[in-house]
Amino acid sequence: MLIGRQSGLGGSRFFCAVCGCEVEGAGAVLGLCAACVRAHWPESRDQIADLHAASRRRFGLPQAPPRHPDGLHCALCAHECRLRPGESGYCGVRSGEAESFRRDGRRRALVSWYHDPLPTNCVADWVCPGGTGAGFPQYARDQGPEVGYFNLAVFFESCNFNCLYCQNWTFKRRPPRSGQWSLVTDLAQAVTPSTSCLCFFGGDPIPQLPFALRSAQLIGLERPQQPVRICWETNGATHPGWLRAMARISSATGGCVKVDLKAWDPHIHEALCGFPNDRVLRNFELLAGFARARPDPPLVVASTLLVPGYVGVEEVSGLAAFIARLGPDIPYSLLGFAPQFLFEHSPTASRREAEACLRAAKKAGLRRVRLANRHLLH
Ligand code: SF4
Ligand code: SF4
Repeated sequence: MLIGRQSGLGGSRFFCAVCGCEVEGAGAVLGLCAACVRAHWPESRDQIADLHAASRRRFGLPQAPPRHPDGLHCALCAHECRLRPGESGYCGVRSGEAESFRRDGRRRALVSWYHDPLPTNCVADWVCPGGTGAGFPQYARDQGPEVGYFNLAVFFESCNFNCLYCQNWTFKRRPPRSGQWSLVTDLAQAVTPSTSCLCFFGGDPIPQLPFALRSAQLIGLERPQQPVRICWETNGATHPGWLRAMARISSATGGCVKVDLKAWDPHIHEALCGFPNDRVLRNFELLAGFARARPDPPLVVASTLLVPGYVGVEEVSGLAAFIARLGPDIPYSLLGFAPQFLFEHSPTASRREAEACLRAAKKAGLRRVRLANRHLLH
């Protein structure tokens, strides 16, 4: 649903439904400018909720987290769904039948994997043992990039967010109940003598975290002579108890937790991802505490995707100041985004805007900032 659209001989033009200014890219999809999302949330909220709901109906995903008081309680993520039999969680992977609730995402998962040669195009490769040799000899196999070794990239096919620009959205096309389930032992067997690190990503690992943690533990038990770093790429909106488990296993193995901080303003965050960012920010604070105990190689790495018109200097400045207060040496990656999913017709970020974001992050006090995906800038 787009509000404020006008068609004419010159093609379609889009206008913010609140202030009437002309909007493009992300603003055209949302029908709202970023300034009005920040300042006029009560007037913007319903339009944004409708857009998210419509984007989820296409894939048969629940339009809102189920919250029946008598339902089974899932505390894996901040949605805290309560599921009755026949209902799916917001993530689409967990369901309210007792047996399925105990098993799915725990003993079996919707997941696929592949080996990537190191150094790989990873959000943390510029600071991590695999990409730089940081932490050698305890955590890295070489004093530089681990050429000849591999990252086992483990893609979870579910997510607890609904980012309108999702860079990996095609996993939503596969209805969870018809998916190919894998067992913990299947994943453990995929590790080879040249596997040096394992990265859980997706989608997001959160809705299937118990499976991920069990796999990591099994790999550690089966290969005591071959430590495999365990890393995560996540939106960070899990329960703090689960987050601690993620941080501990990464800390012990030399891996890292890469948190995608999508926006500083809670309404911008909700507009883009369907969920506000309070839990994410609190969890990031928790992770920063773990990071102080193992600063090298860095245990926590932050990243932000630059979304033209929505996530630029203002959002990056807020996030960078927040990170800097927790630790000025926490690495922060700014990422150019590829037009995907509902934002498939949006322009990419400009080089000028991206450089301005980089300067803003440094000005906020961060000492380790990088601009990645430069080939996606225009
Ligand atoms: S993991 Fe899924 S079922 Fe559990 S709370 Fe999150 S969205 Fe709901
Ligand atoms: S998965 Fe971890 S260790 Fe491997 S390249 Fe990425 S951040 Fe580095």
